[in-house]
Amino acid sequence: MGKVAVAFAAAAVVAACSVAAVMVGRRMKSRRKWRTVVEILKELEDACDTPVGRLRQVVDAMAVEMHAGLASEGGSKLKMLLTFVDDLPKGTEKGTYYALHLGGTYFRILRVHLGGQRSYLDVQDVERHPIPSHLMNSTSEVLFNFLAFSLERFIEKEGNGSNSQGVKRELAFTFSFPVKHTSISSGVLIKWTKGFEISEMVGKDIAECLQGALNRRGLDMHVAALVNDTVGALSLGYYHDPDTVVAVVFGTGSNACYLERTDAIIKCQGLLTTSGSMVVNMEWGNFWSSHLPRTSYDIDLDAESSNSNDMGFEKMIAGMYLGDIVRRVILRMSQESDIFGPSSSLLSEPYVLRTNSVSAMHEDDTPELQEVARILKDLGVSDVPLKVRKLVVKVCDVVTRRAGRLAAAGIAGILKKIGRDGSGGITSGRSRNEVLMQKRTVVAVEGGLYMNYTMFREYMEEALVEILGEEVSQYVVVKAMEDGSSIGSALLVASLQS
Ligand code: ADP
Ligand code: MG
Repeated sequence: MGKVAVAFAAAAVVAACSVAAVMVGRRMKSRRKWRTVVEILKELEDACDTPVGRLRQVVDAMAVEMHAGLASEGGSKLKMLLTFVDDLPKGTEKGTYYALHLGGTYFRILRVHLGGQRSYLDVQDVERHPIPSHLMNSTSEVLFNFLAFSLERFIEKEGNGSNSQGVKRELAFTFSFPVKHTSISSGVLIKWTKGFEISEMVGKDIAECLQGALNRRGLDMHVAALVNDTVGALSLGYYHDPDTVVAVVFGTGSNACYLERTDAIIKCQGLLTTSGSMVVNMEWGNFWSSHLPRTSYDIDLDAESSNSNDMGFEKMIAGMYLGDIVRRVILRMSQESDIFGPSSSLLSEPYVLRTNSVSAMHEDDTPELQEVARILKDLGVSDVPLKVRKLVVKVCDVVTRRAGRLAAAGIAGILKKIGRDGSGGITSGRSRNEVLMQKRTVVAVEGGLYMNYTMFREYMEEALVEILGEEVSQYVVVKAMEDGSSIGSALLVASLQS
């Protein structure tokens, strides 16, 4: 071999070695980045861990806070608000009634006709529209004029058959925000939640605001009740099954109510009701306990929200927030590695990832996770390999599993407070027969998150059995109430009239 050839061969070897070195270097770098991402996931999993022992601590804390909130005004982060609802619809109500429901994302209008027997409940017309986002930080006048206008259009569509002429239409106003009631048909807004920010409305009577707007439009409608959405769901549950004593909503926000004995409502001594009980609106979204597994993502989400230091439980379990927790994890992963490709500015936008998309990714059953790829693409993240898509699904799973399990702990906390969790029976070692004396308890559940996100629902129901045990769980029935808040509120108005 001549000198030139040797030099060439040597150069080729050097070149090959350096290419190999670059490739190995890249592979090592990419492995290191992958390891970083896996560590972020592991850290998330640990921080969101909800073993049954921890859930039981949350159950106890919920029951303790309920007691404290009933004992004195301001005694707990749980407001435990009076609703002035003591009698729930029985099934014998008659007539035609309306409900207007302002939720966190949607407003709904419907009409029900009741024939005097349970089976004669006819939900005749249901309209559901997204709340135009500009209304959420407008003025009370703009908001209520819009609602009155929507009701007017609803009634115009009715034709003559639905309501005999000259009879005032009785309306329930289902309002999914905290209200301090002075009667069943009046109460003032305590604060906004779920991103609403019309500050001049705080302290105003909500029913009066709506009645005023209806009068201004010349609508012959009477706001007969102001009903929290959970109380609406409880009313529908009770109408169908009188063992229903708890109702929970998992929608944009989350809240619960239940039937309490009036003598247990210590902060309102002398409260007289014919039934000896009253529905209490817990406003459980504001529940807090040091046992809740909180992550850095929760802390940042809260700090950047319009209601920071408020609604801590809601921010871990409700539809408005789950998507944003997932987004924050993905954003951090994309910042600390390049596995999501070039950084996407969209990913930095709060609330751009909706919980609907989280469930669509989580429940994507295509082999290549095409739905995940599509949703990531909408977030400005294209062409990520399958293993990265799987990682995203795992993040959705961790966040939603925590939410479902904490939701179950909340429900078990209510059951504990009212003595329906079996703790009086089983844990004190009574006989099997006494355990069987446990009362059947129905929990009415509604809201878009619960109705549409199967994995959330399954995690919740699984954890409830884990907490209560197989035996007691047999007596606790969780019943889905589609549109329960609105339908139930109309039934409640019917029961007031009969
Ligand atoms: P509102 O809170 O206005 O009363 P809903 O009870 O219908 O309305 O809840 C709507 C919320 O439910 C949405 O904002 C979303 O967070 C959640 N949601 C709706 N559909 C889905 C879905 N398919 N998967 C996950 N969450 C959903
Ligand atoms: Mg709702």
